[in-house]
Amino acid sequence: MPLYEYWCNNCKTRLEIFLPKFENACPSCPKCHQDSLKRLFSTFMVQKSYKDVYDNILSDGQLTRGLMNNDPMALAQWNKQMSGGEAVAPEYQETMERMERGEMTTPPSTTNQSPSDSL
Ligand SMILES: [Zn+2]
Repeated sequence: MPLYEYWCNNCKTRLEIFLPKFENACPSCPKCHQDSLKRLFSTFMVQKSYKDVYDNILSDGQLTRGLMNNDPMALAQWNKQMSGGEAVAPEYQETMERMERGEMTTPPSTTNQSPSDSL
């Protein structure tokens, strides 16, 4: 179900309205029922389709080979492309950036040194 963003000049608020299909005629404001809605172009509309992203990834031979080998850097790149390079949770973004730098996150439990190592 597509979600469209509108700005109501009467309420001075941004609204998100679900429409079954795109219509050029603006609906009335659900709050004040005035025809003062102005359509906003959200990133949702300009985002590439998944097929475009797949084609883009498949055309990248190095990335495709990395995905075949479960290369974490390739997986991070793939995640980035599939998400359109935005709308990623901050903590997830940080993880991907670390993976791209080749820094694998290690569980804290493995950092404990056993006393026998110092001998
Ligand atoms: Zn309104």
